[in-house]
Amino acid sequence: MVAVTDDERAPGEVISWHLAPLASSGLPPVIRRGALPDPSTSACDLCELRPKQPLSTVLVIDGPDGLPVPFLICAPCRRALDALRSLLESAHGHP
Ligand SMILES: [Zn+2]
Repeated sequence: MVAVTDDERAPGEVISWHLAPLASSGLPPVIRRGALPDPSTSACDLCELRPKQPLSTVLVIDGPDGLPVPFLICAPCRRALDALRSLLESAHGHP
């Protein structure tokens, strides 16, 4: 989990997000049940492909009202987001 500190950026400028395993995404169970489809039958929320394996990663975006908004994503999308995160962090470290 990567925290984006508020004092480095203007409010609303950056959307804070992180990746989490579905089994321990840190979401309150009521949110997890209410917002996420069945991971074994649903398609990835990003690329809309349905992998053979059940989806096991959650992209959690901090919503505007402080509630986390979960999206089920597939392994290739997770790898892409991991790479994106690395790019963003290296760019942030060298302004
Ligand atoms: Zn995907």
